[in-house]
Amino acid sequence: MHEKIYRGIVASPGIVIGRAYLLDRRKIVVAGRRIEDVSVKDEVARFKKAVELSRAQLEDLKKRISKGLGKSHLYILETHIMLLEDKMLVDGTVKRIKESFLNAEGALKETIGAIGLKFDSIEDEYLRERKHDVEQVGERVLRNLVGHKQESLTDIREEAVIIAHDLAPTDTLVMRKDKILGFATDAGSRTSHTAILARSLGIPAAVGLENITAAVKTGDVVILDGIHGVVIVDPDEETFLDYLQKQRKYKYFEQELEKLKKLPAETLDGHVIELQGNIELPEEAMSTAEHGGSGIGLYRTEFLFLNRQTLPTEEEHYNAYRHVAEWAAPHEVVIRTLDVGGDKVGFPGEFELEANPALGLRAIRYCLQKRDVFKTQLRGILRAAVHGNVKILIPMVSGLTELRETKKLLDEVKSELRAEGKAFQENLQLGVMIEIPSAAMIADLLAKEVDFFSVGTNDLIQYTLAIDRQNEHVAYMYEPLDPAVLRLLQRVSEAARQANIPLAMCGEMAGDPLYAAILLGMGFRRLSMNVASIPWVKRVVRSVRMQDAVELASLVMQQPTAMLARKTAESFIEERFPDLAAEL
Ligand code: PEP
Ligand code: MG
Repeated sequence: MHEKIYRGIVASPGIVIGRAYLLDRRKIVVAGRRIEDVSVKDEVARFKKAVELSRAQLEDLKKRISKGLGKSHLYILETHIMLLEDKMLVDGTVKRIKESFLNAEGALKETIGAIGLKFDSIEDEYLRERKHDVEQVGERVLRNLVGHKQESLTDIREEAVIIAHDLAPTDTLVMRKDKILGFATDAGSRTSHTAILARSLGIPAAVGLENITAAVKTGDVVILDGIHGVVIVDPDEETFLDYLQKQRKYKYFEQELEKLKKLPAETLDGHVIELQGNIELPEEAMSTAEHGGSGIGLYRTEFLFLNRQTLPTEEEHYNAYRHVAEWAAPHEVVIRTLDVGGDKVGFPGEFELEANPALGLRAIRYCLQKRDVFKTQLRGILRAAVHGNVKILIPMVSGLTELRETKKLLDEVKSELRAEGKAFQENLQLGVMIEIPSAAMIADLLAKEVDFFSVGTNDLIQYTLAIDRQNEHVAYMYEPLDPAVLRLLQRVSEAARQANIPLAMCGEMAGDPLYAAILLGMGFRRLSMNVASIPWVKRVVRSVRMQDAVELASLVMQQPTAMLARKTAESFIEERFPDLAAEL
């Protein structure tokens, strides 16, 4: 029999070879049916009992996890427990039972479907994925309603690669690393909680394989290549041997990288570079240090606003930011103010649907219109800043007016806090994200009025090349080494140098070792990235001389097309880091 290859999405790197264990996580099929008027009360009671049982199961899991490996991720269980109190989910279902005379299963299914539709129209991939949390909680309640026992990963006794339709973050949390070699799922995306967790717990994983569960039986030999998001079922001998070697090489490489964790990110000629982590959840702060990073260069605060009916209070902002600031101290934490797209369905508050959300009322534009929302966040940040080395970063600034208005508002908030006698950081440093071409073009003007720049290449590339970053049809054009992008980066770097302000990059480009030397050569001294990338980039930083990096950057800049620029960058890596080149 021939091997079968399935390609999905990279969720967590690593290569494992082993026997598959097919976990039954198919959605259970329930029938919605009409009920009699007189049964409504019983049906509501049955639903509430299932909710209570679900809560007890999650609380029990929480207790077990508090002692183990996953304790820094308890927030996920807390989110799920919180969802069991969610009005949309619980009251929505009860309302459907009462008004549509539906049985509890049918009413719950419809409610989950309706909530899902609202989430689907959210532009931000990370937030859109939170729909998953609702579905997973709903699925638990459904199983309890029909008395279907959930097969647990804790029952697995033999080493295995888990294959499942989908896994809940709670599954990932109870995975024993000595038994679960890795996992592959039909569903999921890179930013689903399960994928984030797999990365931070170091479990190799591929997700979004679409129909891997149909192709694999328990006991099949599988290769899970988490570096490329690939699963090979029943590998041929040649592939098997090839992967054994790849696996050995990767393990060796990981050990080498591990040694770098405690070493500084310093070039051969002594230039110290700050390598920092991008985080979305407060609990991820710790894993930045574990990966050898120094501080948080981008804390995306959108998560605080999701899965809830009301806006976060000042205390919630304060507590989350204080937590991260204390964890990272003495290193810095750059807190980015709310950056939501133009279609905020699923968020508390009133929002209108927009035809072009990426060009709509996003980020700072939204915050300057909804000043109360913004001021509450600013108060939380200013107060939390007392507890560490906090800086504030404004997303999607397109010109000076927005910056000046933000500063005015910040002064206003400071006066209010002063009048109330509340402790806060008076000299909070303020930076702007350079992620719109107009901001890059006037970087010299902006530089005179801010404390630092942080370049967001994810958006800068999208807006410069006019390619929707979510659209797979134009994804092939998404090219960081496009001459137009490089010229903008150069311009921003020059402006920062002239004004003598720190220059950072926090877009995905900063975490790719292929670009590291070029960025150093262009003048970037702070690179903030997905924490798992820190050791890889550190390796490049520690092996180059600044002079060589400057020469490389200049050579790449002279190339007339992205393809030639890429070839130049790749030859450099191949020449200098042949082993790294094989991994990229
Ligand atoms: C960016 O645009 O590069 C960035 C870091 O912000 P986000 O990905 O959150 O839009
Ligand atoms: Mg952005």
